[in-house]
Order: sequence, then C-alpha cells, then structure tokens
Amino acid sequence: MLTPSLEDYLEEIYRLSINQGFIRITDVARKLQVSLPSVNKAVKLLSEKGYLNYIPYKNIDLTEKGERTGQFLVYRNQMIQNFLQVIGSKADKAVEAEAIEHYLSRETINALTQVVKFFEENPAIQEKLIEFQKEKEGSGQEII
Ligand code: CA
Repeated sequence: MLTPSLEDYLEEIYRLSINQGFIRITDVARKLQVSLPSVNKAVKLLSEKGYLNYIPYKNIDLTEKGERTGQFLVYRNQMIQNFLQVIGSKADKAVEAEAIEHYLSRETINALTQVVKFFEENPAIQEKLIEFQKEKEGSGQEII
C-alpha cells in the first residue's frame, strides 16, 4: 500500500512517462509544486517498494509494477472527475478528485465507473437527471 502522497508522486511520474517519454526529478517537482529534496525522497521510497528503477542523476524508469499501478492511479483520477461530471457536480472536479481519490476502494471505483458508463450509454436518462437537478435548484430545494 502506498501513502496518499506516494500515490500522487507515482501518478504524476506515470503521466510524465506517457506525455514526454522520460521522467526527470525537476519535472516531477514542477508538476507537483514541491521541492527537489521531496521528490528525491519519494523516488527513493518508490524505488525501494519496486515501482521505479532510479539511478541518481539519471532518468527514472518505471518498473512493470510501477507502470501498472501508475496507469490505475491516472485512470482513477480521471474516472472520479468523469463521475463528478455526470452527477452534475459544480465543484472544481480536478481539485475534488485530488482530495478524495486516495480514500475510495477499488470496489467503489468500479461502481462509479459503471455509473459513468451507464450514463454514457443512456444519454436520455442523463438528460432526465439534469432536468431534475435544474428543477430542484429552481425551487430552492438544494440540501446545502
Ligand atoms: Ca492525484
């Protein structure tokens, strides 16, 4: 199990590996807005846990385990944002996904993936939900 902080590092490292093909400590620091020593520490821990191969002052490579987990973490973040979108949340979806992603079980991620797919395949029902929400808002029946 990874801590929320290490999950965020691995998620961003995976994103960098996909988007630019190589991973540098400086890029990770810039993306996550953290210091270089913090990234070094996280990279060392992720290496010890078998997610990365890291030779100091060289590029970082994801292991197969690192790739698999990184892919899941990126998917999870996107899926939560998609879920917030389909349920009509007006919150900042990226910020909210960051806040909750570490605390949802795989079972819940699977369940909300199904909700997203369900609405994708049933746009008429999605429309009904949107209308329902507009109606409730219009009548001042929002809970908070
Ligand atoms: Ca994250």
